[in-house]
Amino acid sequence: MSTAGKVIKCKAAVAWEPNKPVVIEEIEVAPPQANEVRIKIVATGVCHTDLYHLFEGMHKDGFPAVLGHEGAGIVESVGPGVTEFQPGDTVIPLFISQCRECRFCKNPKTNQCENGWAADSHDVMALAESRFTCKGKKVLQFMGTSTFSEYTVMNQMAVAKIDPAAPLDKVCLLGCGVSTGYGAAVNTAKVEPGSTCAVFGLGAVGLAAVMGCKAAGAKRIIAVDINPDKFEKARVFGATEFVNPKDHNKPINEVLAEMTNGGVDYSLECVGNVAVMRSALESCIKGWGVCVLVGWTDLHDFAARPIQLIAGRTWKGSLFGGVDYSLECVGNVAVMRSALESCIKGWGVCVLVGWTDLHDFAARPIQLIAGRTWKGSLFGGFKSKDGVPEMVKAYLNKKVKLDEFITHKMTLGQVNDAIELMKHGKCIRTVLSVSPQ
Ligand code: NAD
Ligand code: ZN
Repeated sequence: MSTAGKVIKCKAAVAWEPNKPVVIEEIEVAPPQANEVRIKIVATGVCHTDLYHLFEGMHKDGFPAVLGHEGAGIVESVGPGVTEFQPGDTVIPLFISQCRECRFCKNPKTNQCENGWAADSHDVMALAESRFTCKGKKVLQFMGTSTFSEYTVMNQMAVAKIDPAAPLDKVCLLGCGVSTGYGAAVNTAKVEPGSTCAVFGLGAVGLAAVMGCKAAGAKRIIAVDINPDKFEKARVFGATEFVNPKDHNKPINEVLAEMTNGGVDYSLECVGNVAVMRSALESCIKGWGVCVLVGWTDLHDFAARPIQLIAGRTWKGSLFGGVDYSLECVGNVAVMRSALESCIKGWGVCVLVGWTDLHDFAARPIQLIAGRTWKGSLFGGFKSKDGVPEMVKAYLNKKVKLDEFITHKMTLGQVNDAIELMKHGKCIRTVLSVSPQ
């Protein structure tokens, strides 16, 4: 019996409040409205960003919500005006949209999009727009996706149609972690052949960054993690050296500087910790080092919030001038922050010219003035609708690995066990089977 046009009652994992286990509930999923697609979720990964919302960010406005943003499924029905999708299509939900029409989509320098449910939602992360209710209450859709549910509804500009031959319980990882880490190396850092790279944090995001560095031809890839259990996996993806900061009684940037004659060409922070972000910046070589922030946090300042950079801004220093856009020529760390915040997300460039080594913006401005670049990366810099189907093809053609990330398989009902595994560093990715295909 067709479900099209009707409310679907199904199972979903509802996060009623922060810092509590999620609860499997029966929810109602409304039919798709104009330009929307209702999707039966087949499989989903569990990403650290789900844990971030539940245990770390804990924005009270972001609950109750259905978490999950790394899924794959099948279109169940479409709303009025949808021509790109049909029931039965295999798809990956996207936490950033690609409308193809806004100034961000038309600009090849960024993967931000101004339209869609998720635009400018980085603070609360659970969006106001939702098609879910449970026990008479509206339930929010985390990152606009909510893949810890048997069914979800998305705007069509945030859905990628993929090769129907792709195994959904593998390619779901391309909805977030693997595309994010791989793209951060290839698209955002633009790692060059023969270079030396350091990757901080060896979860799925960091391991995918290692894989991206290798694909880009890096000669040395130094894998850094405080959990040495992760090193064996890092070798599988191409890491050449391993450093546990706990084995050293000096700062990790000094250890890396000694190993590399002054610092690495590229460093990627895949932890989500502002102290590690600082170390990652300080580990790259003066003059041309590039540090990319991938780890997610908007909890603490590094004077400017990392999310400012994750959204695609570049904060770089310049000795003897040379670049335009916004120029800080004062030498005051508060003005440096304002200068960064004054430039447009997506492609704004803020250049520090003013000289000071008196105050921290957590990293000293002098670090950047010497020519380092500190930039963020959202979803690996991939334009979502274009990039995800390409990554699926790359997997089917054996150009990128996915199976090696999956350490556990469970059902949606075991989602709290999967969350605990990640919390304690016991998994890379758990894939939950949600609905039978
Ligand atoms: P994960 O929990 O699986 O992995 C994190 C790793 O960091 C663990 O191996 C842990 O041992 C290691 N770590 C912790 N503290 C460390 C330290 N001080 N030094 C070195 N390593 C340390 O998480 P994940 O799913 O791989 O996600 C990683 C980060 O990426 C999270 O912050 C997540 O929110 C973020 N993320 C960002 C985006 C984006 O678009 N920018 C997308 C997805 C995930
Ligand atoms: Zn994620």
